[in-house]
Amino acid sequence: MGSGIVNIYNKKYSYEDLSHDIKRFLVDYKDIVSAGIIAKTSDGNNIYCIRLGNTKAEKRVIIQAAMHAREWLNTQLIMMMTEHCLRFYYSASFEGIKYNELFDKVCFYIIPMFNPDGVNISQYGLKRIRNNILKGQVRCIGRGRYRRWKANAEGVDLNRNYEKGFTKNYLRSASECSGDCPYSEKETRAFIKLVDSIKPTAVINYHETGRIIYFKEFSKLTKLISAETGYHCKYDKGANGSLGDWLSMKNVEWVTIETCIGRAPVNHLQLYYEWKLHKNMIQKIAKLYIDV
Ligand SMILES: [Zn+2]
Repeated sequence: MGSGIVNIYNKKYSYEDLSHDIKRFLVDYKDIVSAGIIAKTSDGNNIYCIRLGNTKAEKRVIIQAAMHAREWLNTQLIMMMTEHCLRFYYSASFEGIKYNELFDKVCFYIIPMFNPDGVNISQYGLKRIRNNILKGQVRCIGRGRYRRWKANAEGVDLNRNYEKGFTKNYLRSASECSGDCPYSEKETRAFIKLVDSIKPTAVINYHETGRIIYFKEFSKLTKLISAETGYHCKYDKGANGSLGDWLSMKNVEWVTIETCIGRAPVNHLQLYYEWKLHKNMIQKIAKLYIDV
């Protein structure tokens, strides 16, 4: 299991760790990777988007993780997967195709921590919230229980804030609150802006838990991810205001991968198991889109 920059032993991979490691990527691999900030959150944190590959590529794939705050183990996993590709970029081939050729034809837009404010709450409670109004609101909702926080710092579930099937729900909570109206949240607006600007071939949503894959269309992509991970596949019945339903409405292929078992946040040891299943996922997806 190879990691040079991303510390695999770090049991609480935080927003600060992520920011630090992305900066290191940009120094050590400056010719092959770039990164942007797709939005600033309510508490002033960056939502980073790492671009891996040729931005003029015909195929573009978005990978996002930690939309739900407590699912932050996936941030570390995605960062390890990204670093794995960077390390072999100029020196190796993947299933007969050179890495640089793979990423010349398929570009990845990787958002390792979609909900940094929420991750801070799940990992540190109130301690890292800078904005006092937000802090008061989170204190009111969480009442001392923050580990299983799922929403952003506004108390809105970012997987209920899209237009398709949106159901009004004003009561802010640690999970399942849809917000005042569709796209009320900065994170949601940043995501739709990204989708509208790059017009992705597919969107891969990393969530936890269940070791299961949710799909709307049983595609080659679903089959590939299932073969690689051994996870079962299940038809997604949809949910009010979910990202998946919105992507289907936009005719964008998508799949949701639920890693790990048990209740999130999961024991750090699960990272090592999941790494074995996911370490070639980016390369496999790139190859799939070259072959089709
Ligand atoms: Zn989730």
